Amino acid sequence: MSVPLLDLKAQYAAIRDDVERAMREVVESQVFINGPQVAACEQAVARYCGAARAVGVSSGTDALLISMMAEGIGPGDEVITTPYTFFATVGSIVRLGARPVFVDIDPETFNMDSRRLEGAVTSRTRAVIPVHLFGQMADMAAICATASARGLVVIEDACQAIGAEHGGRRAGAIGHYGCFSFFPSKNLGAFGDGGMVTTNDPDRADRLELLRMHGMRPKYVHRMVGGNFRLDTLQAAVVLAKLRWLDRWTEGRRRNAERYGRLFAESGLLERGLVRLPRTVTDRHVFNQYVIRCERRDALMEHLKAAGIGCEVYYPIPLHLQECFAGLGYGPGDFPESERAARETLALPVYPELTDAQATEVVHAITRFYGAGRSA
Ligand SMILES: *Cc1c(COP(=O)(O)O)cnc(C)c1O
Repeated sequence: MSVPLLDLKAQYAAIRDDVERAMREVVESQVFINGPQVAACEQAVARYCGAARAVGVSSGTDALLISMMAEGIGPGDEVITTPYTFFATVGSIVRLGARPVFVDIDPETFNMDSRRLEGAVTSRTRAVIPVHLFGQMADMAAICATASARGLVVIEDACQAIGAEHGGRRAGAIGHYGCFSFFPSKNLGAFGDGGMVTTNDPDRADRLELLRMHGMRPKYVHRMVGGNFRLDTLQAAVVLAKLRWLDRWTEGRRRNAERYGRLFAESGLLERGLVRLPRTVTDRHVFNQYVIRCERRDALMEHLKAAGIGCEVYYPIPLHLQECFAGLGYGPGDFPESERAARETLALPVYPELTDAQATEVVHAITRFYGAGRSA
C-alpha cells in the first residue's frame, strides 16, 4: 500500500462541485482582479479567525512582507523570530533591509521559546514574528506581554495554523497582524498561490489595502510605494468555497494525530526511545504537519520512501546556517534546539483523507525499520 504525504486529489473529489461552480462564476464574470469574491473571502476569513479585518494578498510570503512594509520596517531595524521555520519568515525581513534576530525554539513545541524573547530585544527591535509551526500556536500570552512592555509590533506567522486556537482565541487575531498562506499544501489551500493578512486595527487594514495596490488611492494617485500584492479573484473564490470544509478537514487531521498516538503506543517504539511524538500544549492544534522526532532519521526516511510512504523533513537546515544569511554572523551551535530539531524531525502523512489502514501501514513500516529489540 502506498501512502502519499498529502493527497489533494482525494480532497478535490469531495469538493469538485462546490469549487467548480465558484470558479465558473468568476470566469463567466471575467472580473479576474478585485472581483466581489475577494471581499467575500476576506470577510469570511476574518470572521473565521475572529479578527476585525482581513486583506487578501498574493501569498503567505507577501503577507509577511506587506505587514512589515505597513510598519515601515527597514534598514537599521531588528525583527525577532525563530531560525526553525520556512524560509519566507526570515527572507521577508532581509528583503526589507532589516536584520533578523533569532530566538531558539522550545523543544517541546518547535515554537519560539518565549522565555528567551526578552533577552533578544534591543533598542533597534521593531517587531517580533512568532511562527505557529506545524499548526500549533506559539506562547502568545508571554510573547505579547514582552512585546507590549517593549513596544514591539507582533506579526503572527500563521501560515500553517489557520483555525488553531488557544484560550478561546484563534491564530492571527491576537497580534497586530496575522499572516496566512493559501499555498496548496496548507490546511486551506488555493489552486495556486494566495494569502491573507488579518488585523484588528482599521488603520493597519487601510495601509495594507493601499500597499497591495501600489499605494494607489484614487486611481493613479500614489500615496505610498507598495506593490502588486493582490489576491486573484479566482483564488479567492476557491478559498471561499473550500473554507466551508475547513473544520471537517481539521477534525480529520486531529483524529489522525490521535490515531498515530494510539498506534505508536502499541508499537513499543516510544518506550524504546526510538520515536517521540509531537506534544499538544494548546487547545486546538490543527496539524498542518504531524512531526515526530526519531533515531537515525535519514535512514528511516529512505526506508519509508522505499516502502512507498511519503514523508519529509521540515526543515533540514535551520535558517541561521543558510548560506544566504552567512552575513548575519551566526554559526553552528548558536541555536542548539533548532539544530537538533533539524537533525531529528520527520513529518508523516496526516492529511484528512488518510485512512485507518494507511496510518497503520505508516506505523508498521516504522516498526519494521527499527526491528525487534534494538534500542537507541
Ligand atoms: C508556507 C509558509 C510561508 C509562505 O507562504 P507562501 O504562500 O508559500 O508564500 C511562510 N511561513 C510559513 C511558516 C509557511 O509555512
